[in-house]
Amino acid sequence: MAKKKDKHEGGDHCAFCGRGQEEVDLLISAGEVAICSDCARMAYEYAKEALNPGEDHIRTNGKIVGESKLYKPAEIKAFLDEYVIGQEEAKRFLAVAVYNHYKRINLKNDLIEKSNILMVGPTGTGKTLLARTIAKMLNVPFAIVDATVLTEAGYVGEDVESILTRLLQDADYDVSKAEKGIVFIDEIDKIARKSDNPSITRDVSGEGVQQALLKILEGSLVNVPPQGGRKHPEQRMITVNTENILFICGGAFEGIDRHIAQRLNTQVIGYGARKKHETIDTDNLIQYVAPQDLRAYGLIPEIIGRLPVLCHLDPLDRPTLLAILTRPKNALVKQYEELFALDGIKLKIKPEVLEFIVDTSIQYKLGARGLRSICEAIMTDAMFDAPTSHKKSLTITLDYAKEKIDKFAGKMIGLE
Ligand code: ADP
Repeated sequence: MAKKKDKHEGGDHCAFCGRGQEEVDLLISAGEVAICSDCARMAYEYAKEALNPGEDHIRTNGKIVGESKLYKPAEIKAFLDEYVIGQEEAKRFLAVAVYNHYKRINLKNDLIEKSNILMVGPTGTGKTLLARTIAKMLNVPFAIVDATVLTEAGYVGEDVESILTRLLQDADYDVSKAEKGIVFIDEIDKIARKSDNPSITRDVSGEGVQQALLKILEGSLVNVPPQGGRKHPEQRMITVNTENILFICGGAFEGIDRHIAQRLNTQVIGYGARKKHETIDTDNLIQYVAPQDLRAYGLIPEIIGRLPVLCHLDPLDRPTLLAILTRPKNALVKQYEELFALDGIKLKIKPEVLEFIVDTSIQYKLGARGLRSICEAIMTDAMFDAPTSHKKSLTITLDYAKEKIDKFAGKMIGLE
């Protein structure tokens, strides 16, 4: 009969803590010895700190202020300028809010309140791009969640807590990292109360969700289902403190211009009205958005109070769309030039082609998102042939672009 192994014999227990296979999540063995996943993690942290002491800390004026670099608003804005065209107001507001937020965290200053942000502007004007670019710059965990999937507990959809699941996943389940991350909640306007009278119908995705969201926004300990979806009793929860998580919300708030116009009209009757009336740009009312309008739209006052930084995004006009094609660090045109350069081909896209791309996007109301599909329609044949063509250069002319759009547009961008 085989000898029963002693608990501490061979590679079936952790050489550091002595726990056996059944007592740990994972036991990694190397011949005679083994280490459990908990001790391996601790050993990794220990080695990291021993080899690079204070690596995570930065010094400002000789003082260690925290765990990430504190970028100044002008630096943040300059970084955003590299990727996002226009949207000056949103960039400045974001830059200041992010600076203040990380100042509050890094200096552990409780006096300063959290400055969650709400961006209001038409779809496809750069809200997600702004939030994503900030997270890239700061190198913090970042998650994008769509408010439309959230419903009150007990209804089909996702619990509000699942917002934090994505952040945890992006932080590789490192809770302390996730607790300093950024969450972008898109389509926040979709959880606005549908009517002023909450008793008419059950408002499954409206006020109840806003109330649940409030808890997360204001900073509290939240039990998060690690795999997302619905919480269920057997699931192990991870507790996340949302006090230092920066929430950036975005929404198109379609139709909010009616509320803005109404408010501005009312003001017109009041004191100083004449002057205000004269300068109102009625084509772009969203630039005047104020907390009262959000309330009229159906956000509860508590949510509005938790999103104190309110800014707007402008619709993208023709010059902006043209700039988006060529100017950002990762602009579409630069990407195609790079793709062809990798095959040894110098790509030249004629300026009139760029104008044609922008005009097509405007004509079919595709906005900035449409630019890529239109470019793909024009470039796909060339990208297919280029690697085997032995050409050294390629010029995309207007005729060529028009021919490809006629051929592919219906399929690629849904044009009739
Ligand atoms: P939103 O979140 O406002 O609906 P996105 O940020 O997702 O819009 O924008 C969609 C895409 O359009 C972006 O990934 C980007 O390629 C492009 N885009 C939109 N606005 C801008 C902008 N202002 N500058 C540069 N690119 C932009």
